[in-house]
Amino acid sequence: MSLPRRTVAPLLPALALALLAPALPAQTPVQVPPEANRFSPQVLDIPSVAQALEWLEEHFDDQVEEWIRINEIPAPSRMEEERGRYVASLMEAEGLEVSVDGIGNVIGVRRGVGDGPTLVFASHMDTVFPMGTDVTVRRDGDVLRAPGIWDNSAAVANMLAVARAMNAAGIRTRGDVIFIGTVQEEIGLNGMTYWLEENEGVADMLVAIDGGLGAISYGALGIYWTIYRFHAEGAHTNRSAGRPHPVRALADAVRYIYEIEIPEGQGGAVFNVGMLDGGSIFNAIPEQASFSLDLRSVNPVLLDSLNAEIEARVARAAEAHGVEWSMEIDSRSQAGGTEEQLADRRIHPLVVTAESIYGHLELGNTLRASGSTDANAGVVRGVPSIAVGRSLGGDNHTLSEWADIPSALPATQAVLLLTVTLAELADGPVSQ
Ligand SMILES: [Zn+2]
Repeated sequence: MSLPRRTVAPLLPALALALLAPALPAQTPVQVPPEANRFSPQVLDIPSVAQALEWLEEHFDDQVEEWIRINEIPAPSRMEEERGRYVASLMEAEGLEVSVDGIGNVIGVRRGVGDGPTLVFASHMDTVFPMGTDVTVRRDGDVLRAPGIWDNSAAVANMLAVARAMNAAGIRTRGDVIFIGTVQEEIGLNGMTYWLEENEGVADMLVAIDGGLGAISYGALGIYWTIYRFHAEGAHTNRSAGRPHPVRALADAVRYIYEIEIPEGQGGAVFNVGMLDGGSIFNAIPEQASFSLDLRSVNPVLLDSLNAEIEARVARAAEAHGVEWSMEIDSRSQAGGTEEQLADRRIHPLVVTAESIYGHLELGNTLRASGSTDANAGVVRGVPSIAVGRSLGGDNHTLSEWADIPSALPATQAVLLLTVTLAELADGPVSQ
């Protein structure tokens, strides 16, 4: 049977989802074994689950208030401490086993009764906005506006609401559920990576709450950030003719790089030169000039081969102009694989169950063999991992960021259903 109407928030307009979901090529059909889907709509008839879903709806105004409070505690990457303390206090109030690890992640464990898989949720606490940015939230009808409000305060509030609703309804799971407010997601998934490395083998499944509602990501977009620098001695303009010139080398290098053709059918790739730097006066050859490169692909082989090709073209340009060159690796987020390479992940119960729950709640269930969230750190380590959305919204990483309030409720209810389904209810059969 389907959900009683009151229990689930108003469904999202299909059009809004279609507009927000990225245009993607049609998925190749896959044979999904039916047993991979652990969700059955009958779970909604179990009194504790129905009660938890209703509790979320009844207390949604409080969730929104808390969402705002979380957002108004500034938390630039590496400066999440104060927000983290607040999140830890909320987890403690719910009786979770709370700890803060060596990098600053806030971890709240909700113990299961045993014999079930460990399910980890991660919502990153950090934002891209420097300390001093006005993070005051303005409410505008059904919309909240503030830097960071969508990415990712919404997810932190959703995650805490799930823990609370489970407690209120007395839900017990077999597996442990671990809620993590992660740090430094925006600067290379550092917090998530740290936790996975310190807790190898603990997570059976990882769910990052991040991104817009509607898409389920089960892959990992590899992202390489590199600064390339050209160096020479410099000279006054009057004596510059024919001398080694970092800027001329840089100009050629950038041109050569943009002549690279991305091969077809290997998962695709994209790159961008986003920052230029060097020189300080009109009348001299600068001693150095640099550019940044942002290179992305889901295909690890393609990513590395393009990276090598870029490096070769930088070397060629430097040599042609008689200048030295060097590079500085800013970050390396590994790629998870193409759709074909991730075929086994696509049929994993985590992915299939999430797809089924999203389908049932009519939240949109676009599957993507890609992603740029904390889930990436799990994907590349072989931990079954997905990212699910937190609400509708837009303009993240800009000062005009906004989030749609009502859509955070079904997003949260979907997380609750994922939890009771995948960590397995202790008090009754969840599915077939
Ligand atoms: Zn994010």
